[in-house]
Amino acid sequence: MDLNDIVRPQDEALKDTATIFSNEKSISKRLYPKDKKFSFRDIIKLLKNFNKIKRTMPSLYRTIKFIKNGQISDKRVMQKEEFAELNKLMKKLGVDSYGWLEIDSDRVFKGKGIPFKNAIVITINMDKNEFKYAPSMEGQIEVMRIYGETGVAANEITDFLRQKGFNASPNHSLGGSIDYCKAGMDAGLGYIGRHGMLITPENGACHRSAVIYTDIENLSDFISSKENHKWIEDFCLSCGKCIRKCPTGAIYETAKINEYGQVTSIDYNKCCSGFKNYGCAICIKVCPFTEVGYEKIKKGFIKK
Ligand code: SF4
Ligand code: SF4
Repeated sequence: MDLNDIVRPQDEALKDTATIFSNEKSISKRLYPKDKKFSFRDIIKLLKNFNKIKRTMPSLYRTIKFIKNGQISDKRVMQKEEFAELNKLMKKLGVDSYGWLEIDSDRVFKGKGIPFKNAIVITINMDKNEFKYAPSMEGQIEVMRIYGETGVAANEITDFLRQKGFNASPNHSLGGSIDYCKAGMDAGLGYIGRHGMLITPENGACHRSAVIYTDIENLSDFISSKENHKWIEDFCLSCGKCIRKCPTGAIYETAKINEYGQVTSIDYNKCCSGFKNYGCAICIKVCPFTEVGYEKIKKGFIKK
């Protein structure tokens, strides 16, 4: 299965409707591994769990449809009552955290584009128990389930915003024209750990994100994050468990910074070599933020 072919139409639809394009500082989007293979036993498990993963692909197709059929409106200011409704909807959709940030060209993956300058980033937690035996098909099924949940949530939020007369376009968790982890960090949802994933107070790195682009101008009236997650950087320096446990040696001891200041924590080719059968996810499993939890670690670490 080549996921790259499946997610490409989303990138193309976003680029066709884009007003913000990548530039020379932009990094390339990581491609999904091409040689992903499922054994007969895996396929049986997938079929048995079809109910859990059945929303993933239809939600991606709906996302693409939404992007292509965007409305153009000049309504830019959200009212308090409208935000209260949005907040209620997000809760109903199972969104565990959300924030927003402004996107500039540097953030857009090379050769891609996005339609509106503001991005609402949402996360939905995965079930930690499904990663107990990672790498496992159970973990992969859970990832696929949450791709579906976040995709549905991004579509529903877009639909809601459009019904209220705003411009909005979703970007599904499967694929993406910007780096969701970095966007989540800069939207105040958490901090990127040494394993390159966004660590949130809600569930460590055990979650998935999606984005809704919009040109609503007063999101800061309603969405702000005061919590400072920078201490995670120091905690990570004292930990390094993901680096020691990574079976392919993919996580850099010291993150690499390119000439434009962009940070890479992972050798993606090495990481992909551990993806042959199903997603590896060992770094999610062993991360103390998954095992112990954000609040307990913070309490113990900040005291020191
Ligand atoms: S997913 Fe597996 S191979 Fe990739 S960085 Fe994490 S532990 Fe390493
Ligand atoms: S395993 Fe340790 S070093 Fe790696 S991201 Fe989690 S806390 Fe940071």
